[in-house]
Amino acid sequence: MLLSGPCTTNLFQRSADLLKSTMRPAVVLLSGGLDSTTVLAIAARQGYACHAMSFRYGQRHAIELDRARVVAEKLGAVKHVVVDIDLRQFGGSALTSDIPVPKQRSVEQMSHGVPSTYVPARNTIFLSFALAWAETLQASDIFIGVNALDYSGYPDCRPEFITAFEHMAHLGTKAGVEGRQQLHIHAPLIKMTKADIIRHGLSLGVDYGLTLSCYDPSPSGVPCKACDSCLLRAKGFAEAGVTDPQSALS
Ligand SMILES: [Zn+2]
Repeated sequence: MLLSGPCTTNLFQRSADLLKSTMRPAVVLLSGGLDSTTVLAIAARQGYACHAMSFRYGQRHAIELDRARVVAEKLGAVKHVVVDIDLRQFGGSALTSDIPVPKQRSVEQMSHGVPSTYVPARNTIFLSFALAWAETLQASDIFIGVNALDYSGYPDCRPEFITAFEHMAHLGTKAGVEGRQQLHIHAPLIKMTKADIIRHGLSLGVDYGLTLSCYDPSPSGVPCKACDSCLLRAKGFAEAGVTDPQSALS
């Protein structure tokens, strides 16, 4: 006999809720971009109950937060929070002030120096919030989508930064000092090319049409196709031999 109807639906829902309650919790930093979305898919595939965390930090546009909300829902995050902090109070970045976003830079130019889109200490701030939530959840795992190959040269995307933060986390939390939490910062993309990230994400069923990478999109969310993030994304899709679902937007 084939079971169907509301009772079975409730049964499935209760089973799904029970399963989620027995899964290990993890905090996943989620911007709504390509990298963090892939990381959320990786954490979900590894069986974590994903608690996604995004920030309204005074960035140029809030469209990425809408994308993050949709991505979190689609990829089955058990919870998604948007934390309000105002990095625009002191600016210092093209993403948090009226400094123009650099456009049409070559890969060669991107490989030297730290560009004006660097947001002072952003990943230190984001990881600190993730650490606080992880300690509250009694979670030992934090996921972040930093990448040190196809990136803009930000110092807080490098492996030595992640290792140092993990060390600090052991020293700076009650759970770490009492030995109840062996915190691990997962940065699964850190040594991957953008093309590898895209291929891996597609193998996990990620819909990149939901994501937004652009630093400077139009008010309706159309990417500029000229900032570092757009150019690195285009390079990644080209090298992966895949069409970016966002390429038709104009
Ligand atoms: Zn762009």
